[in-house]
Amino acid sequence: MDITSILAYQEVDKKLYSLEQDLAKDPNKKRCNDLNQTARTSQQKSSQLEEQAGAILKELGELKKSIDATKKHGAEVLSSDVSELTVEQIDEAVSKKDRVTSNLTALDKRLTKLAENINHVLSEFNRTIKLYNEAKQQYQKFKAAYDAKVKESEPKMTELSKQLAALEKNINPKTLEIYKAKRADKIFPVFVQLLGNTCGRCRMELSASAISKLKNEQILTCENCRSVIYYKQ
Ligand SMILES: [Zn+2]
Repeated sequence: MDITSILAYQEVDKKLYSLEQDLAKDPNKKRCNDLNQTARTSQQKSSQLEEQAGAILKELGELKKSIDATKKHGAEVLSSDVSELTVEQIDEAVSKKDRVTSNLTALDKRLTKLAENINHVLSEFNRTIKLYNEAKQQYQKFKAAYDAKVKESEPKMTELSKQLAALEKNINPKTLEIYKAKRADKIFPVFVQLLGNTCGRCRMELSASAISKLKNEQILTCENCRSVIYYKQ
């Protein structure tokens, strides 16, 4: 196998890989992703709060109807002409009035509770919107920093890609195919030397039979890290 030229290729590719990794691990990029997540969560939260507010308003409407009906019933009880009633009927009217009063008290408590709930939902909603706006503003800032870094790396990356394309011509297509497949799987370095009796990338120890196979075939895929171990005399 044509090890020398693929190693020369890998040496150039190392610089490209390092630039790619730099961009992938850029803290501003990570912040952008985190802020995107915050914005999405805030949006979900605010629609949930809108639904909650809608439900509370609906309940308030129904409660208002109940209060009106109870008051109307109370007024009817009170307007009865007492002089024409028997003692039993008066007792009944009094107990009706008590029930109306107690119903009204319960409804009033519920109304207070709903008012508290809606205030809570509103303040949560405002807090969520504030979080969303802050996330959006910060996102712009970090995005600009990341974009600047991408712009700075681009010419270097283009230049390295050109160098690699030129080097490809010296490499056996089969070897290059293996290299590119591993590289696409983010296995780097792809080709590593046998170090003692271990893989040069992950340092996993190779069995005696694996080493003898490697010496025969010149290369062997590491069972642990999937790099291609090569043997150089
Ligand atoms: Zn390995």
